[in-house]
Amino acid sequence: MEKSLKAAGELFTDYLRRYKLRRTAERYAVLEEIYTCGGHVEAETLFQELKKRYRVSRATVYNTLELLLECGLILRHRFEKGPAQYEKAYNVPFHGHLVCSDCEKVEEFTDSRLNDLIAVAGETFRFAVEHWNLYLYGRCKHCQLKSAQTGKKSV
Ligand SMILES: [Zn+2]
Ligand SMILES: [Zn+2]
Repeated sequence: MEKSLKAAGELFTDYLRRYKLRRTAERYAVLEEIYTCGGHVEAETLFQELKKRYRVSRATVYNTLELLLECGLILRHRFEKGPAQYEKAYNVPFHGHLVCSDCEKVEEFTDSRLNDLIAVAGETFRFAVEHWNLYLYGRCKHCQLKSAQTGKKSV
């Protein structure tokens, strides 16, 4: 099992214990699926995947997502189009997202200068930054190439 998944699982156990919530296999399966899918995933996709292996309801998936968000083990993104997407957050450096408006593909990027900038902003405003998001909307290189080939005017 992946190390960060194991640690995340332990934190989730602490959380469920503290709030006297049931520690069901389905709840851990939601966590595991997000930590092993290797990217961003929609709630409906999660449900469809888990349904193959567990007797899980949509409500359980959605409730568990809320619990995982609350303990900071996952992040929820609302990109310009489409339903919300989830990704693992434990032991993952904060990163920005490049969202293509044509094919809706999402790429991630990190840059230490961005972290420096956020730290400076926090200091300047004496703001205790807990997390941040940066979404860049536009067109990915493949879509730019495609529109150049078909002669469509690019934005
Ligand atoms: Zn694209
Ligand atoms: Zn991401």
